Amino acid sequence: MNLELSILLTLFALSVGSFVNTFIYRFPLIDSNQNLDLFKPRSFCPKCKSRLKPFMLIPIISYIYLKGTCSFCKEKIEISYPLNEVIHLLTMIAILFSVPIGINSIIVFVLFSILYTQMVLDYKYFLLSISLNVLLIVAGLVLNYGFNYFTSFEESLLGMIIGYGSLWLINAVFHWLKKEQGIGGGDFLLFAGCGSIFGLFSLGPILLMGSSASLLLFALNKRKSGRKIPLGTGLAFAAITYYLILRFSIFL
Ligand SMILES: [Zn+2]
Repeated sequence: MNLELSILLTLFALSVGSFVNTFIYRFPLIDSNQNLDLFKPRSFCPKCKSRLKPFMLIPIISYIYLKGTCSFCKEKIEISYPLNEVIHLLTMIAILFSVPIGINSIIVFVLFSILYTQMVLDYKYFLLSISLNVLLIVAGLVLNYGFNYFTSFEESLLGMIIGYGSLWLINAVFHWLKKEQGIGGGDFLLFAGCGSIFGLFSLGPILLMGSSASLLLFALNKRKSGRKIPLGTGLAFAAITYYLILRFSIFL
């Protein structure tokens, strides 16, 4: 294994993990707060709003060094911050050992990171980022058009169309019967993204695994989530699982 490249990719993974933290924290606030975007202002403590010093931005290590508390207000730092970084780190290490090192490592890692971010966003806030969904759709079409990366271009295109259309149709029937929206529009796009990346034939398994996972989450958190089911969380989780099945033929 190329050591320098592996170290570089690992550092890249940690930076992405750290950016994902910022994205997840700021995403629901950006609409309502005009002074906030993804890059401005620089990172701050969510509790006391103190600007973080450069060393506090070092993923994982800063959390351990600060013993999990903000050095300004001494409030506990949510465990999800280092956890997201550790998950990104471990994923990159797993990728380095299982995918040809180089551009492939970055492609698989970035797709994972986008799906992971959507999974957490929908779980925490019942929100999905449209930009990330569009990125998934475009990435799937480009990778499969140029390189048949996961599937053929035809299957990718059909996967996108049927992915969007099928959830739209289910929602339309639900709306007609119940007179309320059952599935959020972000879910249509996320499912279209899954179809665009893994192709038409991935849609059945992803929807089955995804809706089962979402229902399980719903049952476990019934009091917290009211009547809402985080379908996006399940779909993103199922897409990651589908990739693992495809790659390692585990469970088969
Ligand atoms: Zn603080």
